[in-house]
Amino acid sequence: MAYRITLIPGDGIGPEIVAAARRVLEATGVEFDWDVQQAGAGVMDKHGTPLPEAVLDSIRVNKVALKGPITTPVGSGFRSVNVAIRKALDLYANLRLSKHLAGTRSLYRDVDLVIVRENTEGLYAGIEHDVIPGEAAESIRIITRKGSERIVRFAFEYARDNGRRKVTAVHKANILKATDGLFLRAARQVADEYPDIEFEDRIVDNMCMQLVQRPREYDVLVLPNLFGDIVSDLCSGLVGGLGVVPGANIGEHLAVFEPVHGSAPKYAGQNKANPVATILSGALMLHHLGEREAAERVEAAVAAVIAEGSSVTYDLKPTRDDPTAVGTQEMGEAIVAALDG
Ligand code: NAD
Repeated sequence: MAYRITLIPGDGIGPEIVAAARRVLEATGVEFDWDVQQAGAGVMDKHGTPLPEAVLDSIRVNKVALKGPITTPVGSGFRSVNVAIRKALDLYANLRLSKHLAGTRSLYRDVDLVIVRENTEGLYAGIEHDVIPGEAAESIRIITRKGSERIVRFAFEYARDNGRRKVTAVHKANILKATDGLFLRAARQVADEYPDIEFEDRIVDNMCMQLVQRPREYDVLVLPNLFGDIVSDLCSGLVGGLGVVPGANIGEHLAVFEPVHGSAPKYAGQNKANPVATILSGALMLHHLGEREAAERVEAAVAAVIAEGSSVTYDLKPTRDDPTAVGTQEMGEAIVAALDG
């Protein structure tokens, strides 16, 4: 029986990388019945909103989605569709995997970091307003015990299920005593339930320095929303960049798989962007569906193509203007060809 999956191509580079991911997923032999849904600025005129209710309904019914990035206007305009999907569906855990793959352009080898980012609270709660228009504005940072406990519990459960040794809670509780103080107390309390997994905490600025100096000392990191967003891009940079880092937004019953990166508008429509982050997000989706063998074949094919190094996009070449770089679809086809290799 085919899996009915909501497919959101997104905008910017989204449609191209999602097409490549779809091609690879279908080539595994697993059958999909895609429910294609559009969101973002392109649907504003027709629907009066960048996030039509039909998109959310589709995910509610299908329970699983694969999503491309969606552009958010900077400094004004509509609120992020990506954040709105996570909040509307209570996809509270944002899982982002930065694992070194041989052949990527990175200062390090053997980095294997898991970011578990709280996805519904913090500064992304969207409570923001002008105090004196043009002069002063404020954002309100929401942290709850319930939200903190469930994200830390998710991190420990992930660690246990995936043979991980340590969870590090990352915070700014020295300065944000009320909000991150609550997050840290909740983290310590949940950690007591998992004596088999090591637990420690780090202040976020020190964490950034340590990740750059000694990334191999860290394993699973759990963070409030904004810190998780920033530190996950830092971790992407440790393993070759945003082009190779997959992600998932996971709730109690629903899951939306998407790359960590955004819509990279400057590369839109150029067949230039790396499809791997979306293809590996698709592999995470296969794991979620219980299609472990297909997921591992996709992961192995991606690793083989990157290690071989000829059929890769510009970001995986020694220089950004390397004339031997291939396009998005060509890299996708190389991964399809490697599936049975
Ligand atoms: P971005 O992740 O889109 O791009 C940053 C840079 O990373 C790009 O200029 C490019 O050099 C590189 N990059 C990203 N994806 C790549 C890929 N697949 N292959 C090769 N190189 C890649 O971040 P940004 O420029 O800060 O944001 C652009 C837009 O994306 C904004 O509107 C932002 O709000 C949105 N965004 C969306 C999501 C999402 O949909 N979940 C996530 C982050 C940003």
